[in-house]
Amino acid sequence: MKAASMAAGLGICQEKAQLESSYKRAKDAFDTARSVLRKKVGKSSHAEFVKLERATDLAWDRLDDAMREFATHLREHGCGVCQDILPSGKPIW
Ligand SMILES: [Zn+2]
Repeated sequence: MKAASMAAGLGICQEKAQLESSYKRAKDAFDTARSVLRKKVGKSSHAEFVKLERATDLAWDRLDDAMREFATHLREHGCGVCQDILPSGKPIW
């Protein structure tokens, strides 16, 4: 442990805050994409549905990346506990 444990003790970590907010943004984007997709089930053309499905897929990948980055930072930096870990693997939407 370097200066990291000090920052952890103080509960201030700029990078953690940044990673957390981008994780939250990615999560919001994914939730939105998924709810749009769900509303469109059986109501849109196949082409439109495929497009939405890709968008949701992409949003998931971003969320997955953001989450990993956040969790990795917390683990390596020791500046917090990531209790918000998503199950590995894609959820079914
Ligand atoms: Zn940190």
